[in-house]
Amino acid sequence: MSIDFIKSLYFEFLSYFVPQKIEYQIEGECKKCAKCCTQVRSYGMKNEKELKFMSLFFSYYRNFYITGKDESGNLILCCKYITEDSQCAIYDKRPNICRNYPVKKIFENKQMIEGCGYKVIKKEFKDYL
Ligand code: SF4
Ligand code: SF4
Repeated sequence: MSIDFIKSLYFEFLSYFVPQKIEYQIEGECKKCAKCCTQVRSYGMKNEKELKFMSLFFSYYRNFYITGKDESGNLILCCKYITEDSQCAIYDKRPNICRNYPVKKIFENKQMIEGCGYKVIKKEFKDYL
């Protein structure tokens, strides 16, 4: 297991049990392109074994299958519940992570999927003064 994967697991745990530290401003609106369901970039997960391991702790990872890897070797995932016409087949029962997307409070530098209708406005140090 790589250091990146262990960090990824650590941040997943933190997101459940520790109040978030940073709040970004998010502007824009959803274009309903479904990229956040079909092109999910994992951070630190490099292979199927690590995805399965993560699924043991966070059940929503069981919804995803691997479609490829990004330039850093991180897995790109697709949800098995997205329909051909880009609808969520389990909309009323979708996981909280989907209901709350995009979350405003996060631990690490947040980036939206390329082409997403939302944009992250990062706060500078002076904004907190
Ligand atoms: S990627 Fe962004 S614009 Fe596309 S469906 Fe998801 S939230 Fe909406
Ligand atoms: S459960 Fe529905 S909303 Fe969540 S990733 Fe899958 S298709 Fe998208």
